[in-house]
Amino acid sequence: MELTLVVVALVGLLLGRLAAGWSAVMLRDWYSGGLLNCLNCQTPVVPFDRWVRPLPIRCNCGTRTVWWHMGSAVGLSLLFTAFTWLMLSMDCQGLEEVRPALSNVYARLPFHLFLIFLLWTATVTDLLDYMIPDPIVVTGIVVAVIAATATGDLQMIHIWVNWDNVIPGVQGPYLPQWMKDHQHLHGLAWSLSGLLCGSAFTWVVRHLSGWMLGYPALGSGDVTLMAMVGAFIGWQPVLCSLALAPIAGLVVGLLVRVFQGKSFVAFGPYLAVSTVVVISTWRWIWADYFRMRIIFSHWPSVVGLVGAALGSLFILLLGLRLFRSIPVETRRSKSDGQAAE
Ligand SMILES: [Zn+2]
Repeated sequence: MELTLVVVALVGLLLGRLAAGWSAVMLRDWYSGGLLNCLNCQTPVVPFDRWVRPLPIRCNCGTRTVWWHMGSAVGLSLLFTAFTWLMLSMDCQGLEEVRPALSNVYARLPFHLFLIFLLWTATVTDLLDYMIPDPIVVTGIVVAVIAATATGDLQMIHIWVNWDNVIPGVQGPYLPQWMKDHQHLHGLAWSLSGLLCGSAFTWVVRHLSGWMLGYPALGSGDVTLMAMVGAFIGWQPVLCSLALAPIAGLVVGLLVRVFQGKSFVAFGPYLAVSTVVVISTWRWIWADYFRMRIIFSHWPSVVGLVGAALGSLFILLLGLRLFRSIPVETRRSKSDGQAAE
């Protein structure tokens, strides 16, 4: 256990540093935070500094020092360690109806750590220049769908579980027989259903907000990001994550406003935060505390949940509209979803 945490912390440091280099490369034509070219004199940063150097990067012109890549390494390492501890010590995804044959340490833990790495990279690029580059989500979708299908054993929750007619000690939850007979098909099905659910919901919000506010409040990058998240975690968790995102938006937005005194309009980081919260607290959300399994046992309740999620997202969108009415000089809007104002 302690050894696993140390290994995960070191891997987190390494991947967090790589995330910084990868972000800079993907943002080549936009604002790459000084990891590609000096922010002052445009001198190219050598590859060693871009990808590996742990210390602050100083240009010969001496005026600017890039240090945020260190924050990326340390931050991802802390996140990795905390999530691993929650998985192994608190059994934060343990459900009685999902009993994977593969050990968490070798299957779902690395699977979800990889999701966290991709979300981290997307957050970095979104913070740097309001972009979620396609290479991140394409990598994620390919890895998630293939791994889910090949193992048939990575789901946080099966594609359908009915808790309606459960009699404790006598009759357990109903699970469709085909899921047990066709493990790999089920892997493909839950992953694709998550992909469709995450992207469709975000797409609807994007276009409704475009119609309502005059500009889409979510970028096309947010749609593909939630497709990727859905492919990793399935349709029920991705809906929970979308419902939670506005709360994350309020909390993070308020903190940023209080500590930095500026409004913060990229939506991707909120989606990333709420996704990490969902995978870190899934047992309590699904079974022990919020008992979402009851809602996800029949379709009318699912429809009600989707309606509530849409409603709460719109409240946040209206808040964003108010923020946006305050001019912010440094705001850049490069992704096609966020037209310059
Ligand atoms: Zn320079």
